Parts: sequence; C-alpha cells; structure tokens
Amino acid sequence: MGYLFGPVLSRRLGLSMGVDLLKYKTCNLDCVYCELGRTVCLTVCRDRFVPREKVIKEIEQRRDEPFDYLTFAGSGEPTLSLDLGDVVCRAKKIVNSPVAVITNSTLLSSSAVRKEVAAADVVLPSLDAASQESFSAINRPAEGLFADKMIQGLKDFRREFSGEIWLEVMLVRGINDHEAERIARAAEAIEPDRIQLNTVVRTPAEPVEPLSREEMHRMLEIFPRAELIPDWDWSVPERIKDRLLELLSQKEHTLDEIGLNLDLGASDAIKYCKILEKEGMISRRLFRGNLYFHLAANNPLRSTKI
Ligand code: SF4
Repeated sequence: MGYLFGPVLSRRLGLSMGVDLLKYKTCNLDCVYCELGRTVCLTVCRDRFVPREKVIKEIEQRRDEPFDYLTFAGSGEPTLSLDLGDVVCRAKKIVNSPVAVITNSTLLSSSAVRKEVAAADVVLPSLDAASQESFSAINRPAEGLFADKMIQGLKDFRREFSGEIWLEVMLVRGINDHEAERIARAAEAIEPDRIQLNTVVRTPAEPVEPLSREEMHRMLEIFPRAELIPDWDWSVPERIKDRLLELLSQKEHTLDEIGLNLDLGASDAIKYCKILEKEGMISRRLFRGNLYFHLAANNPLRSTKI
C-alpha cells in the first residue's frame, strides 16, 4: 500500500484520489513555487519508479471509496513514469469516476507521451511561461527543455485529444507576471477547454510572492476566457455541522450512513467529515475494512456510547 493518497480536497477537481507513480521528488522542473520543495531528482529520463502491479492492486482495493476524480499526480511529474499510459488505461476499467492527469506539459512534445496521456478523461497541463527566459526563471527546467517545444506539444496534444484540457497558469509576482500578455496569447493558441489562473497559495520552494486578489482579477482582462481557481471554501454549513455532530454523538457512523442520515452525496459527506476532522471535532478509525467517523476524544459532545 502507499501509491494512492487522499481523497484530498482539490480546488479544481473536488474530491480527488491521487495516484503517485514516482519517487519523492522526481521532476524535470524545479519550479520556484513548488509546494513539494526543491526537486531532489532533476531528470528528463522516463523510467519505472514503483511496482506497477501493486499500484493496480491498490486502485482495485480502494475503487469503492468516494471520490470525484482518480488523479495521476503526486511526488513530481507523472509523465516521467513509463507506466503512466498502461496504469491510466487499466485504472479507467476499474474505477467509475473519471481519470485525470496533472502534468507540467514539458514532455507533451513527445508523441509517445501524448498518446499515453490521451488515455485520461481530463488533462490538467500547466503553462507558466511563453519565453525561455521566464521558463528558466519560474520553472527552472532540466537541460534540454524549451518553452517553444512545450507550447507546440500542447497544441499538438489539443489536436489529438478529444477529452477536456484545463490549462493552469501560475502567476508569480516579479517572476512571470510581466509577460502575462504573451502567456495569454500562447494559452489561447493552444485552445484548451478551460484556462485557470492560479497564484502562490501554499508554502513555495522559494520565498516568492503571490499576486494580490485585485491583481488576479485584473489578469482576467488579459486572459478574457480564463477563470480564477477558487479559494477553497473550508466551511461546513451550520445546519449540516449541527446534524453531523449530533449524529456522531449517538454513535460512530460510516460515510454511507452519514450520507443517508443527512441526505448528502458521498463527496459532500467525506468533504464535510474531512473539514471537521481538520478542525479537531471528529476523528476516524478503520475497522474491518470500513471507515468510521466519531466525535474526537476532546469534543465536549462526546458521549459514552461511542
Ligand atoms: S512541475 Fe510540479 S512537481 Fe515539478 S517542480 Fe513544478 S510544481 Fe513541483
């Protein structure tokens, strides 16, 4: 076990079950904003990093957990894995949810990689630079990677892939915001289904600064077809919170039971449980393969029935 992570709450994908085909942290970029920290293994060589059959087995074991997307992401750049195409194809036959691949776009210049990535339902590539200078400044690529080839790879992928492409543009103050217009033109030329603007929100690898909320809104004039990746709403509606805590004060419940009692879909049930868990109000335990939620030990509502 250990190749799947989550489900995590993703601002773009909702409840996302991650699949990690890499070893920490293997990437062909070393982005200044990377939330994983500095790249440990900077490489352009595709390889096999984890036992493929064990990944498949874990997907089979966790297929019935609630999630909106099975997402290939994790400890670096997923397209560096030579197993990506095979595992995506097999995963699609195992899970009911759509399969997503998050990529930094650099290897889409390879037709073999494009073919593997095209097995997904949704692809979320990045484009943070339109010039080699900005590419070097923000993404710090391994030797032999070029911004113009990456952009051409994205255009080729668009022509070949009939699924959804959600292009992310990360804007970092003083690093690439000065060439926003050029990035916007490149993004339009790629013709993705969505253009999603982001800025630094999590602890970055380097002390770089985000754009302000006002600056991000002004970017929408430069990227007219784009949307801002929303701030995650980390709140549980009061009415649901009260009923959920009341329910768990009686006894522990599985996610299915919580959903049934509160009339919630599976995604909302786990989302709200995760938020309350993060706030220290409830806890989970795994018992005979079932996940149960109960009031946290220090929650004053906790009763002796648990
Ligand atoms: S491509 Fe992704 S994993 Fe690699 S350094 Fe950039 S942000 Fe981090």
